[in-house]
This record gives sequence, C-alpha cells and structure tokens, in this order.
Amino acid sequence: MALCLKSHSHLAAAATTSQTLKSVRTYNETMAARLLATTARRLAMPAAAALTATTAAACDSQKEDRLEALERRIAALEPRKTNPTDHWASDLLAADVLFSERDIEQMVGSLATQISRDYAGRDVVIVGLMDGVFMFLADLSRKIDTQHQLDFISASSYGLGTVSSGNVRIKKDADTALAGKHVLLVDEICDSGRTLASLKLLISQRNAASVKTCVLLDKVSRRQADIRPDYVGAVCPDEFVVGYGMDWGGKLRSLPFVGVVRRELYES
Ligand code: 5GP
Ligand code: MG
Repeated sequence: MALCLKSHSHLAAAATTSQTLKSVRTYNETMAARLLATTARRLAMPAAAALTATTAAACDSQKEDRLEALERRIAALEPRKTNPTDHWASDLLAADVLFSERDIEQMVGSLATQISRDYAGRDVVIVGLMDGVFMFLADLSRKIDTQHQLDFISASSYGLGTVSSGNVRIKKDADTALAGKHVLLVDEICDSGRTLASLKLLISQRNAASVKTCVLLDKVSRRQADIRPDYVGAVCPDEFVVGYGMDWGGKLRSLPFVGVVRRELYES
C-alpha cells in the first residue's frame, strides 16, 4: 500500500489515477473492517465480527496510530446497557443503549484533546452541520482548549425517513467568509458521506486554508462518497440511531445517550 494516504490533500491531488482510487477503496475497506470488527466485538455482533477475516494490514504508521487510538477508545466503552423499560422512550427504542452518556463524554473529551492539539495557535472556524450537531458541538466546543470561531450550515438530510436521499441542499449557509481560514466541519454522524464530501468540496472551493472533518459517529460500512472523517468519536454499526441531537422524524433528539430505533417501527 505505497499509496496509503498521509492526508486528504495528498488524496485530492492524486485522485485522478485509477490506481489511487483503487488504493483509496482498499484502504477504506480495511479501515471499515478493522473498526467494525472492534465495534462488533464490543457489541457482540457475530456477522460484523466476521469481517475481521477480510482485513489486511494496509495503513501507514500515522494512520495506524489514529486507528489504534480509535480501537482502544471503542474497546474501552461501557458494555451494553439495557434501556430501562420505564423510560419515556422505551417503546421506540431497541433494548440496548448503543452509547451511554459516559461513553459520549469519553469520546468528546478525546476528540477535543486531539483538535486542541492540532489547531493550537491557528485561525480556525468550526462549522457545525445543523440541526443534529447541536448537542455534540455544544459539548465539544466547551472542551476545546484553544481559540476557535463557531458557525453553522444547514444542509438537507433524511427528512422523515431513515435512508439518505443523496441530495445535499444548502438551506442555511455559513455567515463567516471562509477564504484563508482553517475550517473544521463537524457533523454528529457520517453515513453515506455525501453530506460531508459535498460540503468539504464547497468550502475548499471558497479557498479555505484547510478543510478537515469531525464526526461523533461514523457508519463506515455504509460509505458511498470518497471521504473519511479526520476525527471520529466511534464507529457506528449499520442501525438508525437517535439521541444526543439525532432525531427520527423530529422525535428523540433530546435523549442524552445514543439509542437505536426499533426496526419494526420503520420496516414493514
Ligand atoms: P450522509 O450524507 O453521510 O449519508 O448523512 C449524514 C446525515 O444524515 C447526518 O448529518 C444525520 O443528520 C443523518 N443521519 C445519518 N445516519 C443517521 C442515523 O442513524 N440517525 C439519524 N438520526 N440521522 C442520521
Ligand atoms: Mg445531520
């Protein structure tokens, strides 16, 4: 894997050759397999754990460090906790909490530490993708230990459903002129990756000094667009999740933990 990528700018510069695209795919698949295997072990999901078999070592040392840190963080998460049956949302949620308040606090703290270190002394604008990011960004921003400006973009997402339409439409743009600024785009969850990929491109075209991406949760197994967030709190299994800002048709945003919507409620 000589073409294993040191940064996304290298990726962008070289993305015209089919060899590079093939390497990107292999790299992302490897990442996905390893991270899913770690998540699956924690969540005791045998099918996803079987992905380990397809895993090959394909990361350069820098990425390996980041991957290992993420794997350690996932491994340290609380064992599954059952949603209390007397909780007001228990009729809508699957039996197990996916990420507890303590898990989230740990992930946010670790992301804030990395971001504070990487952006110290730089002119950074953190752009949150509304609406789902509000709780995550409120916590993250308070823990980032370096000067940063905040702004918000609202782009279209799922509406009432649970499947991405793939159409990304800007409903509210950032107010800040982003040219020459270091921009960190923050979303609560990356699924197909189309939203982040489109917005990253848009902001690059505005001549930002750099554009990186941060998500609390990454559904790596569902990636369609060629993007891998630079900062990830944890890998998320292929479930429709709610809480900590994430909604299901406008409901369940206010939950302080991340749960899973019962599949029978949206699958016929
Ligand atoms: P993408 O463009 O990556 O397919 O979708 C990203 C956006 O879709 C996120 O910002 C979020 O609003 C929404 N999304 C993706 N997966 C989920 C999920 O499991 N639950 C909820 N509530 N929203 C999701
Ligand atoms: Mg969103």
